[in-house]
Amino acid sequence: MANPLHDALFAPLAGQDRPLMHLPGGAVLTAAAFAADIARFAHALGAAGLAPGDRVVVQAAKTPAMLAVYGAAVAAGVVFLPLNTAYTPDEVDYFVGDCGAKLLLVDPGRDAPLADLAARHGTRLETLGPGGSFDALAAGQPVRFTAVDRAPDDLAALLYTSGTTGRSKGAMLTQTNLLSNAEALRDLWRFTDRDVLLHALPIFHTHGLFVACNTVLLAGARMIWLPKFDADAVFEALPQATTMMGVPTFYTRLLEDARLTRDATAHMRLFVSGSAPLLSETHTAWVARTGHAILERYGMTETNMIASNPYDGDRRAGTVGFALPGVEVRITDPDTGSELAQGETGMIEVRGPNVFKGYWRMPEKTAEELRDTGFFLTGDLGMIDDRGYLCIVGRQKDLIITGGYNVYPREVELILDDQPGVRESAVVGVPHPDFGEAVLGVIVPEPGHPPDLDAIAEALKGPLARFKQPKALVTLDALPRNAMGKVQKAALRSRYGQTFA
Ligand code: ATP
Ligand code: MG
Repeated sequence: MANPLHDALFAPLAGQDRPLMHLPGGAVLTAAAFAADIARFAHALGAAGLAPGDRVVVQAAKTPAMLAVYGAAVAAGVVFLPLNTAYTPDEVDYFVGDCGAKLLLVDPGRDAPLADLAARHGTRLETLGPGGSFDALAAGQPVRFTAVDRAPDDLAALLYTSGTTGRSKGAMLTQTNLLSNAEALRDLWRFTDRDVLLHALPIFHTHGLFVACNTVLLAGARMIWLPKFDADAVFEALPQATTMMGVPTFYTRLLEDARLTRDATAHMRLFVSGSAPLLSETHTAWVARTGHAILERYGMTETNMIASNPYDGDRRAGTVGFALPGVEVRITDPDTGSELAQGETGMIEVRGPNVFKGYWRMPEKTAEELRDTGFFLTGDLGMIDDRGYLCIVGRQKDLIITGGYNVYPREVELILDDQPGVRESAVVGVPHPDFGEAVLGVIVPEPGHPPDLDAIAEALKGPLARFKQPKALVTLDALPRNAMGKVQKAALRSRYGQTFA
């Protein structure tokens, strides 16, 4: 027996006197020092009473220590569960209770408001970071740890979905789910031990944690570790980095900055985007400014990464490329489940070693979304274009049905985005007495150029059938977004829910 994920990602770090993480302020964490932290933390997990299969919840700042807890959990066979640092104690209460956590780790000074809920759930509460109680527990522990045996199908992590379409669900991710995906991404994106990843994403989400860190660790690469996205810090780091992974808002913010030039990005070999759709306009503007074509990829908490634009060959704006090696993607009729032909829009289904084991303690939901054949219903609608590239049309839950007709918000958003004075847009369905739902367009104006809403409504009449044309256009300073840059359409639906009441 062995522990495949530990053996591939973390075991090779031991004793390696090479930089692994370049930290703010110039400090460098070596691979060997990180491996020693992992070992001490793995012993500390045992000392805190955790056994293989138990869950550790971590709601803590993005530090190397937090990543070391992930490594320690993998080594000890403990299931790692990171939480968004923005969650309130009430939200943390739900996650801790739902997963039956044995241990909750939080930043020093942030434990007091969580003490009651931890006690109520019988969860041990410790603090992680300088002066923290967990660090004290780890301090005297050995710097070697013999990894616990794990089977490929054993759980490595329990990652809750972002909660964009409803309450977050716990996705059970196995050793194989994570390792197979890291292998696929390393090979596809050509990560080697010469790479330096500029890491500015949060690590409580699949993007910053698994896509970024697992790929780097597997390749023996290193990272420039930023506590959060900050344009000044990014520009300072770019000359030392070879790759960056970001959400679309990283790219739009960098484009607003005059420091973004060909020279500033000359040392880079790859920019990756995901978690939310990258506007074609952003893709084009990035090429013009830097000479680099951003590589857009698609994935989700439940499946890790599913599809990616090619490393060599055309990276097509507005598409997410091809299924990863070993992963199958098909498009099906959302009503009948039968496979659709190329060019037709339907449910994106995915099968492969990347697909999770099911939702934590939600057998009915798992049965609804994970077919016996192994195909998972992503909840995203899409189609395969004439060159075989996957295009995401939107989420099934955001599909608008107005007067019996289907309207895909993205089709309308793309046209709105092209109108003068429009910076970006979101289209949602809101209740309407006659049509059931009505199409409503929310426009974020370009700064200093208030859009002419009547002229825009007029301009939509050419390209869009009458039932697709918004029955109302409204303006808003900024779209509501979560930490991963995802537009919160549910918030828009409730904000404008009374428009036609
Ligand atoms: P919940 O499932 O709780 O409603 P969520 O689906 O936003 O939340 P995640 O697993 O973080 O939670 O996000 C996965 C979703 O993000 C995908 O299903 C897809 O809708 C979207 N997504 C990811 N990458 C892209 C991309 N490149 N283009 C468009 N959408 C993307
Ligand atoms: Mg989802």
